Amino acid sequence: MGIENEDMEAFGRALQEMEHLQVFRRAGVHAESWSSMRSAAHQHSLVAECTWPNCSATPVGSHTIAKGSGLAPLAVGGHVLMPRLIPRPATMVKRGLQHQATVYPGYCVEHEQRFGVFERLGVLETTEHVALQLFRSASREIWNKRRWFDYFDTLQRQYQEILIVNPIRDVPLDLADRVLRPLENQMHRTRDELDLLAAIWQICWALSGIEGTPQFDIHPESIKRLAIDTSRNIALSGSTFIAVSGPGTERYNRWPVVLAMLPTATGVDCIFATLPAMANQYEAELLLRINQLGGDRVVDEWLTSTEWWCADPEWWETTDSAWRRSILHRLDSV
Ligand SMILES: [Zn+2]
Repeated sequence: MGIENEDMEAFGRALQEMEHLQVFRRAGVHAESWSSMRSAAHQHSLVAECTWPNCSATPVGSHTIAKGSGLAPLAVGGHVLMPRLIPRPATMVKRGLQHQATVYPGYCVEHEQRFGVFERLGVLETTEHVALQLFRSASREIWNKRRWFDYFDTLQRQYQEILIVNPIRDVPLDLADRVLRPLENQMHRTRDELDLLAAIWQICWALSGIEGTPQFDIHPESIKRLAIDTSRNIALSGSTFIAVSGPGTERYNRWPVVLAMLPTATGVDCIFATLPAMANQYEAELLLRINQLGGDRVVDEWLTSTEWWCADPEWWETTDSAWRRSILHRLDSV
């Protein structure tokens, strides 16, 4: 996910400065390190709505990755392993296939049933199925990004209260700016990223045959599929933002990719959705990286940029322990 950046570093520094001021110590203000904020954001609960188009019903627990085509091939005794980031250090924990693995508050009972096609077929047969899987992946990424936004919003209100609304006496005049400005920048960035993820979600919505009319320009080229040979026995769902430059990047210089990897006999079935102008470029870059680095390294980059993946327990326990440690170590900075 990679939210850590200059603004969050500046925010962390300003909070440390606050903690060193006697007036705040007496008021019981605790500075939050980036690490503690990350933990709090991961545990922040968000009142969610069904992520289906034009529905606001209460969601139930939804699988992000299809049980039949994605998780069942990895399961041992009805369980897979998933990373757990809190408490640190990251560890792998057993998650049941039925109600736990990759589950988040996604869709209401009625709309959850629309994904039954995966459980009946066990494979992603058609372009519509691929789009439907990516629609689920995009929904989870939107939910997760909203959770971060909501957490930042909570922080903003908390610090506005003690710095501006009811300021504690003898506080340096420019401190409020140093605390709140980087936080506001981060909230703007998160809001932009939410808009971009919503555009991908709309593309997947239209291409999966879900009823209704999205507002975004739909182009089948937005969705790609390629087979990656890899020894990693995993399923994954995630998103990333790629820095781009050139014509058409005046408004955004970071473009989103929503991606899912599903296990196959020889590696993973890698599917992704991005904005139409980026799709061919991202596919070419991915193929180049696979040629240069090999499938394992390309998959590893994703395993260390999101915690939202599952591994075959038997494979994980018997694979190289130094590699496992390095993956979990790098996940600790997600
Ligand atoms: Zn619904």
